[in-house]
Amino acid sequence: AINCRGVSKTFNATTVLDQVDFQLPQGSLGALLGPSGCGKTTLLRLIAGFETLDQGQIWLGEREIANSKSQVPPEQRQIGMVFQEYALFPHLTVGQNIGYGLGRQANKQQRIDELLELVGLEGLAQRMPHELSGGQQQRVALARALAPKPQLLLLDEPFSNLDAGLRDQVRTATKQILRQVGATALFVTHDQEEALSLADQVTVMLGGKVLQSASPHELYLRPTSQAVAQFVGEAN
Ligand code: ATP
Repeated sequence: AINCRGVSKTFNATTVLDQVDFQLPQGSLGALLGPSGCGKTTLLRLIAGFETLDQGQIWLGEREIANSKSQVPPEQRQIGMVFQEYALFPHLTVGQNIGYGLGRQANKQQRIDELLELVGLEGLAQRMPHELSGGQQQRVALARALAPKPQLLLLDEPFSNLDAGLRDQVRTATKQILRQVGATALFVTHDQEEALSLADQVTVMLGGKVLQSASPHELYLRPTSQAVAQFVGEAN
């Protein structure tokens, strides 16, 4: 589970996150939803440890991973990350990309094979990233992030680089994979339909604040503000 309490972040006198409280229960799939510039990527980056926060605390399970004075380094947070551009290592094979975070552990090859099967890329271990379709690259990125069994998986606009025809299929497959491994995962999106169809919990952000955090059903039936109602309604 992730727990952000009173998190604030300012860049050059601009408050990008303003006293954000945010929780995501263990095993659930959360979406951070909001228009461009609302601060959702910054919140994701603070959780990952790529930025420092000015105020507040971030907890991962029982562990405090960041406050204004100290931070656990990103590589020690047990957080996996899938980037918008996938960021695969171009000079490494699919298998090597997936195994990258596994170091020298004994059953490494077995784990890589397991992950290839999980994401449906059996037989492609020797390919180079440029020899894959966009959808296949996304799966490699997902497998690589899941390989060390992270406590939390963060995905930054994970479907935005796919063309519309492929997007639905990759979304559904990704959700299935995350469910299958029981992952706790949080993804950023500006797409209402994507958030409402994929996530167990949707957190609507605007101007550096959380407006509402609830299940898609609850958001739809009982939006707590006009802004949420409007934003969620735009999906239809
Ligand atoms: P988008 O969907 O466009 O990525 P977002 O909701 O994810 O938007 P953020 O990327 O979190 O928004 O950015 C929020 C604000 O913070 C923006 O106004 C952005 O210009 C600013 N910002 C983000 N990172 C930095 C930085 N490193 N230095 C200065 N300003 C930044």
